[in-house]
Amino acid sequence: MKYDSKDIEKIAEGIVRRADLPMLGRNPNRTYRLGIMGGTFDPIHNGHLVAAEQAFYDLDLDVVVFMPAGRPAFKQDRHVSPGEDRYAMTLLATSDNPHFLASRFEVDREGITYTADTLALLREVYPPNVQLYFITGADAIAEIVRWRHAETIADIAHLVGATRPGYDLDRARSTIAASPYHFDVTYLEIPALAISSSYLRERVAKGQSLRYLTPEPVTGYIHKHKLYGARPNTFEASELDRAQEY
Ligand code: ATP
Ligand code: MG
Repeated sequence: MKYDSKDIEKIAEGIVRRADLPMLGRNPNRTYRLGIMGGTFDPIHNGHLVAAEQAFYDLDLDVVVFMPAGRPAFKQDRHVSPGEDRYAMTLLATSDNPHFLASRFEVDREGITYTADTLALLREVYPPNVQLYFITGADAIAEIVRWRHAETIADIAHLVGATRPGYDLDRARSTIAASPYHFDVTYLEIPALAISSSYLRERVAKGQSLRYLTPEPVTGYIHKHKLYGARPNTFEASELDRAQEY
């Protein structure tokens, strides 16, 4: 069966709708910049949100799409929460920001999700006047040359490397410089955010508060669904008991 360009446009639109991707690229006379924040988001936290917000402003993006990974290539060795839970938390965390979106694009894909495949699919879905900006931690940038099909990533996306405090950029810079592929990388300093999902998971398991580390609805979801060894509302309950002693 042969498709003409109208059919292809329709198929692309279908993919965009199903995966909650933004409709971008309609006006052929302007360039659009689509930010893609990839991650396991197990759970999403304020480090991810602040990094994406800063990338949005510094790189003049039109929108940032948070894309929880289906089955991440690098995290096969530990238990990862179900994609539905990670997607739900991502949706809750991004829902009050008008230029953030949560997408099902990767959680709905079977098997291990590779960034190169995701970016290649997005490149097919969007017209050429939509530029792709892949936002990731600078630690991940240093690994990127080892990723599957690194040359695909270099060809089709700009990379945005968010640095965590104390992170030495030299390693990322020299790894990128030594690569045979040309990567277009912008580094962003994200001030004072040493938050990680692992740290949040540990805190939940110990019954400690997540307040100010992730949006409240995410904390609520974690307790309601007993993720990371959470005992339902133990923290809030003990807090209230203590308050009532006065
Ligand atoms: P884990 O502790 O389980 O490794 P994580 O906090 O690194 O989780 P991921 O879902 O692996 O979270 O991260 C998604 C992306 O966000 C990665 O590219 C990661 O480098 C980046 N990132 C994570 N935490 C921060 C932070 N505090 N500031 C900036 N970028 C971050
Ligand atoms: Mg990580």
